[in-house]
Amino acid sequence: MEMMNGREYIESLRKYKPRIYFMGKKVESVADDPILAPHVNAAAMTYELAHDPRYEDIMTATSHLTGEKINRFTHIHQSTDDLVKKVRMMRLLGRKTGSCFQRCVGLDAINALYITTYDIDQKYGTDYHDRIRKYVEYVQKNDLMVAGAMTDVKGDRGKRPHQQADPDLYVRIVERGDDGIVVRGAKAHITGAVNSHEIIALPTRAMGKEDKDYAVSFAVPVDAEGVVMIFGRQTNDLRRLDGDIDCGNAKYATVGGEALVIFDNVFVPWERVFMCGEYDFASELVETFATFHRQNYGGCKVGVADVLIGASACIAEYNGVERASHIVDKLTEMIHLAETCWCCSLACSYEGFRTPSGAYMPNLLLANVTKLNITRLPYEWSRLAQDLAGGFVITTPSEKDYRNPETRDLIEKYMKGKAEIPTEHRLRMFRLIENLSIGAELPESMHGAGSPAAQKIMIWRRSNINMKKEEAERIAGIKPDENFKKVRGK
Ligand code: SF4
Repeated sequence: MEMMNGREYIESLRKYKPRIYFMGKKVESVADDPILAPHVNAAAMTYELAHDPRYEDIMTATSHLTGEKINRFTHIHQSTDDLVKKVRMMRLLGRKTGSCFQRCVGLDAINALYITTYDIDQKYGTDYHDRIRKYVEYVQKNDLMVAGAMTDVKGDRGKRPHQQADPDLYVRIVERGDDGIVVRGAKAHITGAVNSHEIIALPTRAMGKEDKDYAVSFAVPVDAEGVVMIFGRQTNDLRRLDGDIDCGNAKYATVGGEALVIFDNVFVPWERVFMCGEYDFASELVETFATFHRQNYGGCKVGVADVLIGASACIAEYNGVERASHIVDKLTEMIHLAETCWCCSLACSYEGFRTPSGAYMPNLLLANVTKLNITRLPYEWSRLAQDLAGGFVITTPSEKDYRNPETRDLIEKYMKGKAEIPTEHRLRMFRLIENLSIGAELPESMHGAGSPAAQKIMIWRRSNINMKKEEAERIAGIKPDENFKKVRGK
């Protein structure tokens, strides 16, 4: 099958009948639902841009499995160049949508499984790697969007999976049969799940022997029997029903349309099971997946920052203060913060390495540094955007008042900035800044791909603190300095 374009992707969703609920009602059609539409549109861009000759080099790749041209969102990275192109793709899409385009989680899941299943097979003689290769080929051929479901609902955070009062608070195997397994449990915050074709579940933490039944990874179609999704609410989500100004980014919304995904006794055939009880590989799978997803954040979030910086520059211009030195200084500060995060994504990609499976992964330390910066710097560039925009970012009259003939002329007159700029442009820009700097974007930067504490653990583990201590002792004259001795003889 050919790569799908954006329109074909939206049409393809009609073939699936997932069980989704939002605001007390069942969602009848993912492709047509007005609340889901902007998230669907953002994901559609991952398909559409692959057909644009300007972006072909970064949006497409050659499959190492079939030799076919494929969408890069289904690719297993074969070089550091692939890793760099991946983050370039993320920045491009962040910039084109001003939002989360969701498809990266599945991409990271197939890459993490490709690497980890190879290692499991080496130790246990299992055939998981062959299964994931066939699954990836299926995903590539059909150009599918795959949601990655990692974060379990976790119940009591002080207890391990097998210690929970309710054993279903981490996804687990409840039955093993000749044809496959049955799983039960729930995953939280699952980006793009409702508008994907497939869901891959992965364990969320390191596991011990007693957690064996929780060390499970598998793939199911979104409408597999027993899968139930409850779509999460966001700040101002219903504004998108009121027109196209008030929600700020009417076409693509903000962040990834996350859902609570419940596996209520779901059957999974063996060919779609990629880990089944190998608890000693749970932490490798989690670390590998997390590294891939943390690599992304200096790409996608910086793409979104490009839009916010652009919006801040526009509003300064609409207000007539674009030349003021403090405005230029703030914009420059925003650019510096964003490009710092971009440097991190590029660095961890260029410093990537080949794993025994043949697939490449980013530098673990630098990928975690990338994400830790994203838990902080977007707060600062959002603060600067709000500073630049002024109070109207939270007090702009509603679109309904703007459309009401009784108040329209008053708003036109008194919300005017520079004479030559239409008032409506100013209203739209305030709303875009509000959307990008006040809404769900910030907590998503904090917790998406793991909360700051998770990155700090990985940074500490990978930082080689002993090397740093040794160098300090050498410089302080506590340990010998061979090279110095050659130069000065002592
Ligand atoms: Fe992709 Fe970024 Fe969204 Fe994660 S937050 S799914 S990396 S766009």
